[in-house]
Amino acid sequence: MQIKEKILPYITDIIAQLQQAGFDAYIVGGAVRDLLLDRIPKDYDISTSATPEQIRKVFRDRRTIIIGKRFRLVHLFHHGDIVEISTFRKCPQPQQELRRPGKEAPENMIFQDNEFGTAREDAWRRDFTVNALFYDPVNARILDYTGMGLHDIQNNCVRSIGNPALRFEEDPVRILRALKLVGQYGFKLEEETGKAVADCMDFIDHASGSRLTLELEKILKNPYGHRILRAFHEYKFLKKFLPFIEQQWDTPACNYMLALLEERNRRVRCRLYRDSISLAMSIFTLPFAEKIIGANEPGGLWHFLPDIHEELWDLLHTVLAPAALTRRASSAAIRTLSLQERLKNRNLKRLFSHPGYPHARELAIIQNNVLWHMDDFEDSLPSPAPAQEKHRVRRHERSRKEAGKNIAERVFV
Ligand code: ATP
Ligand code: MG
Repeated sequence: MQIKEKILPYITDIIAQLQQAGFDAYIVGGAVRDLLLDRIPKDYDISTSATPEQIRKVFRDRRTIIIGKRFRLVHLFHHGDIVEISTFRKCPQPQQELRRPGKEAPENMIFQDNEFGTAREDAWRRDFTVNALFYDPVNARILDYTGMGLHDIQNNCVRSIGNPALRFEEDPVRILRALKLVGQYGFKLEEETGKAVADCMDFIDHASGSRLTLELEKILKNPYGHRILRAFHEYKFLKKFLPFIEQQWDTPACNYMLALLEERNRRVRCRLYRDSISLAMSIFTLPFAEKIIGANEPGGLWHFLPDIHEELWDLLHTVLAPAALTRRASSAAIRTLSLQERLKNRNLKRLFSHPGYPHARELAIIQNNVLWHMDDFEDSLPSPAPAQEKHRVRRHERSRKEAGKNIAERVFV
């Protein structure tokens, strides 16, 4: 497994600089896992023995900021991109005094995770062995502190670090994360981990709403999101996470939604379009809107009238409940839906300069590929102006990264 060449050179440079200053520094988490599985990491997280202040000193000639109050980490800016550098943490203890008043949380639930530690301690506090591998790209060295990470990657296995039931009680979002690995990579749950997933399912009721919303946003972006939803359904997690979708499972509308999502994800993987959250939200809603507002069958559109707007808004929030999605993304999703009829009928007058045109065009192409099958459809819709689209991509990526500044979302316990 030769992964050194696949790593972006500026990431290796950052690690080399930290090491030259006398600190340990590694690529950690999902990026190492993805590289070993021959997938392109969506981003790189770096962990180091340097404290946030020491990191800033090492990169004093670069733009860096320390974010977060309790869980402090450094954002280093690199040509419009942000690299997140965190200091090794140790395993936290359950902290009774931090319990939220009035909430019957499980006894061992953890609300804080912020004590610095060693690289080994940092690996052991992570959730699954496949997520606890560290990689040193300067010396081409993999560190597998749990001793099972490489074995489990090779055997497609999701194994909790430590006692799985306890780890799920400490932080129930780990249940979702385990099933995400099952869906995304076709992994199997190791026996004890699988048993604990089933036994601990109700703990998810105590997970923080904002963290679950953040996870949903990541699934909406994920180019394997349709497979993740199927894993959630199979392991009876979907009824907790997206109860409306679970209720609709196996209906023609839900099958159409999954087919659209699969096609959108194929197009994202082929780099034909970007992984927009609002576009995915419109895909989740479209078939149910057709069922309720339009012709009662997949692909049957409705005539968009202004008073439908409110109905769509309610439906969008029912389909994706209980997640609290942003107004901006919801408005963009509804705008995308509202243009479908015009695009199908190729009534393109003044549409090209419409701000919702790029996503609406993409959704129409996806619908055409899955269901309409009209000849030359894509060619008949002018491509969005590249400059406008490029600008939007940058702003979008930036705002997603900066959402990471909301530290409640970053701290995982
Ligand atoms: P993705 O590709 O979706 O980003 P990821 O595994 O990198 O997957 P992140 O949310 O970016 O997911 O988390 C980075 C790393 O932090 C994980 O790989 C894991 O080691 C650790 N981690 C994240 N959430 C938890 C958690 N709830 N408990 C313990 N460790 C966690
Ligand atoms: Mg990650």
